[in-house]
Amino acid sequence: MRTIFDYRKRSGTGGILPKLDVPGKGSSDLLPSQLIRRSEPRIPNLSEPEVVRHYTALSKLNYGVDDGLYPLGSCTMKYNPKVNEDVARLAGFASIHPGTDPQLAQGSLAVMYDMSRLLRSITGMADVTLQPAAGAHGEVTGMFLIKRYFEARGEVDRTRILLPDSAHGTNPASAAAAGFSVTEIKSGPDGLVDLNELSGELDDTVAGVMLTVPNTLGIFEENIVKITAMVHAAGGLCYFDGANLNSFLGYARPGDMGADVFHFNLHKTMSAPHGGGGPGSGPVAVSEALVPFLPVPRVKRNGDSYELDWDQPQSIGSMHSFYGNFGVFLKAYAYILTLGDEGLRQVGENAVLNANYLQERLKKTYRLPYDRLCKHEFVLTGKGIADGISTLDIAKRLIDYGFHPPTIYFPLIVHEALMIEPTETESRETLDRFAEALEKIAHEAKEDPQLLHEAPHTAPTRRLDQTRAARNPILTYPFEAE
Ligand SMILES: *Cc1c(COP(=O)(O)O)cnc(C)c1O
Repeated sequence: MRTIFDYRKRSGTGGILPKLDVPGKGSSDLLPSQLIRRSEPRIPNLSEPEVVRHYTALSKLNYGVDDGLYPLGSCTMKYNPKVNEDVARLAGFASIHPGTDPQLAQGSLAVMYDMSRLLRSITGMADVTLQPAAGAHGEVTGMFLIKRYFEARGEVDRTRILLPDSAHGTNPASAAAAGFSVTEIKSGPDGLVDLNELSGELDDTVAGVMLTVPNTLGIFEENIVKITAMVHAAGGLCYFDGANLNSFLGYARPGDMGADVFHFNLHKTMSAPHGGGGPGSGPVAVSEALVPFLPVPRVKRNGDSYELDWDQPQSIGSMHSFYGNFGVFLKAYAYILTLGDEGLRQVGENAVLNANYLQERLKKTYRLPYDRLCKHEFVLTGKGIADGISTLDIAKRLIDYGFHPPTIYFPLIVHEALMIEPTETESRETLDRFAEALEKIAHEAKEDPQLLHEAPHTAPTRRLDQTRAARNPILTYPFEAE
């Protein structure tokens, strides 16, 4: 593709600019002389249409959720109502400085206070912090809370976190980042935590268990109440990773299942698009025992007014500058209020219905290692489709059919995994087209394997050397020497 840097250098300017009303080139009294540019910048002089075409061409190389199905399991890449972007851009919210005196920011504080109330009622838990900026940031916040809780009780020997092998990959990393050691708990053949294995590990060195709910196989822990009771009886706490909340929204509450800490991924469940690094939001809900340790400042209500409370002597401190990613929880706030109780339940229903619809159809063609009712996602294997065909081949061929591939090679407990999450926002027609593409690919795998090995055929780039791309990334445009 021809990029903006390939245009020949031209003299003059590409546009008509107003006359300078500040000191111009050569006014060295304003800037230290070593900071003054001595040569022209290495960008071509182009006209407005050329610049617009450049960016439009680049945008067409992207595939996003506004182009079609994006079935990345564990990521919940779904369509989000655009009206919530308008809410986040309302000038009263978007133009406020985070350092504004609370007396002059009452509306924004009211939103944060009310958002916490809504998240409390969705989880059935005692209190919420909105500060964390992502799911993994919520996890590490939760781990710090658990750590501080045991320090306050003088139980400093509780240094282990138990983690099922079906947990999300960020969980062990977060536990380790907070200074815990991690013990893996094996799943049984049904994809659920093996209770004997769990009970064998529970002792007074265990700080808690970290459960992805539902787990990365898309399966709900049927024994979850038993599990949390066992952990509590052994003196530990229960962390629930709530990135998959869309699968039980409005139907079940982590607080009722015995969770002590629960993190949201607002950028998965509640109307914030994600990918490309953010911004995200990972609020953390806690049980009564952990409230004193929540990050500061807390938004408090005092009669009719709201204030920021920094006076929390047992707090773990701040986890984010100011109060978190305000724009993201505005979108989520609008989403919750728009859908209401009934709408949120329907999110949960449709997420589960869509995933099971696809699972039932595709398991006739692809092997389904854990064959049972799923929640928001399910995991197939590319193994056994045809000799010499890998899951990577299947995923790359999907691009030729106009679909973003699902998550592949994760979770690790399924070999050659294809982890599919359709989300609640796709129609039956789209799901059928996607299933049809995967069925055709299974057929091609037997008839014309080379077609798969060489896929994608239609994308702007073919297969990259992924190892080299990761080890020796080229991150700047290769300019010709001048
Ligand atoms: C996405 C995800 C995370 C991590 O969330 P980030 O916002 O990407 O940090 C954690 N757990 C699960 C189950 C997830 O799907």
